[in-house]
Amino acid sequence: LFVEQPLGQGQGIALSQAHAHYLANVLRKGTGTQVALFNSRDGEWLAEITEIGRRGALAICLGQAAPQRMPPDLWLVFAPIKKARTDFIVEKATELGAARILPVQTEFTNSERIRQDRLQAHAIEAAEQCGGTYVPEVAALKPLTRVLQDWPEGRALIWADESLADAGKPPALPPAPAAILIGPEGGFSPTERAKLRATSGVHSMSLGPRILRADTAAVAALTLWQAQQGD
Ligand code: SAM
Repeated sequence: LFVEQPLGQGQGIALSQAHAHYLANVLRKGTGTQVALFNSRDGEWLAEITEIGRRGALAICLGQAAPQRMPPDLWLVFAPIKKARTDFIVEKATELGAARILPVQTEFTNSERIRQDRLQAHAIEAAEQCGGTYVPEVAALKPLTRVLQDWPEGRALIWADESLADAGKPPALPPAPAAILIGPEGGFSPTERAKLRATSGVHSMSLGPRILRADTAAVAALTLWQAQQGD
């Protein structure tokens, strides 16, 4: 279970109402149960539930079960699409070890707003479910132009570009620190494409001869990078 508090020997941890509900009503567990806790910093800790009620639960840390494992420094930059598909992207990016998730508004982005807290909750759930010890931060929605303006020096931006003629073998992708950029269903506008071409540190990448949906493209690109450069 993901918690915000520091984890350490003998540390008392307050678990949320949602966690208490999950433990008591879904798993049918009570006091004395051992659970695994993580907070993206201190690794995985075994803790024992000492109190459980409707409003929350208390646990005490017994010992570290696994050291902290950080994902490679790979970001996913993507234009939000329909709600369920955006949720899917955040979930899969977490499972595939993205270190940070940055939603961007593009000219053809269908959604003007995102629920950052909901997407962050999806990332937490996905990390809990896949046994990771790290939850990627879901950043606030920003215009792509601003993200490109403020792009950190030295971080490669891998642009998944469906218009590339060369759809042969996937290219050799740059190592971390890196980010993958996936467009919305309508793709990038001509202005955005020109801007991307003119931005230094941008590498374009084909994901094959077929046009993939944005959510498929995100999964394919993250997998490809992790296969080449991940650990
Ligand atoms: N512009 C397209 C159109 O309307 O025909 C479709 C955009 S595609 C559905 C959404 C995003 O997925 C693209 O902006 C791109 O980032 C990525 N993508 C999809 N297929 C791809 C491919 N074969 N190679 C590289 N990127 C791809």
